[in-house]
Amino acid sequence: MNIKEEILKLKEMKKAVILAHNYQIPEIQDLADFVGDSLELSKHSKKINAPLIVFCGVRFMAETAKILSPRKKVLLPALDAGCPLADTILPDQLLALRAKHPDAWVVSYVNTSAQIKALSDVCCTSSNAVAVVKNVPVKKVIFVPDKNLGNWVAKNVPEKEIIIWQGFCYVHEQFTLEELERAKKRLPDAEILVHPECRSEVVEHADFVLSTAGMLAHAKKSSAKRFIVGTEEGMLHKLKKESPDKEFYSLGCAKTCVNMKKTTLRQLRDSLAKERYEIDLEKEIIAKASVALERMIEYI
Ligand code: SF4
Repeated sequence: MNIKEEILKLKEMKKAVILAHNYQIPEIQDLADFVGDSLELSKHSKKINAPLIVFCGVRFMAETAKILSPRKKVLLPALDAGCPLADTILPDQLLALRAKHPDAWVVSYVNTSAQIKALSDVCCTSSNAVAVVKNVPVKKVIFVPDKNLGNWVAKNVPEKEIIIWQGFCYVHEQFTLEELERAKKRLPDAEILVHPECRSEVVEHADFVLSTAGMLAHAKKSSAKRFIVGTEEGMLHKLKKESPDKEFYSLGCAKTCVNMKKTTLRQLRDSLAKERYEIDLEKEIIAKASVALERMIEYI
């Protein structure tokens, strides 16, 4: 029996569901029951009628699944798959910022730890950040932790005062304006799609600023045949799979998130076999963080 067959057999035996983020390696994406972005995966984990979820992604995503489905057992196959962006803000730092701006609401991007979500008023994803900030019932917002997404939101919601935490995703921060201009010259007929975690100057010169789910939907309906994509390179696999008649290229050289590539088929198999590594969160954290996550759905 090869490793893929072993995984499928274990999955059936344990009545497990495998979820994978769009940035996972192609072999994992192809084996998963559902592949999506943070928002899609969060919503899907809630609907799943299975006792065991194996989350192929990074820690904050598996935590989000646990917060939304506290009675289910959630496993993260690669113990050290973290997110350096999520790690840029600690609970004490957010508490200090809240104390400085008591009239502001804290809007936290889902790329944060469960503890940060528990200290937030509402969460958002890259696809709904603008709508969430527009709809919160206050004029002042503390936006954490991504500065580029925060700048994008501030540009689109000028009527609100936004205090932006200066964290960033080291993967998206690598895309440059020079790469974008070179790509435009090389493929003038291609549309340039970038993620809002990219630097402001890249975002300003792109044709479309979209979440990964937004990129998939846009590529399907666009009349363009070629696309230059400014996000983690794992996304190209799903774009090609869902729009096989179109061409997709990375903006500049391919940018890889090492944490997203930590989950291998072997780790997925071992995770299922040994039911490791279980996400364990305090009840109080789950209760507070779920308020911020549920509120996100209300505000979009
Ligand atoms: S791509 Fe960026 S935001 Fe996403 S997990 Fe990797 S470091 Fe974190």
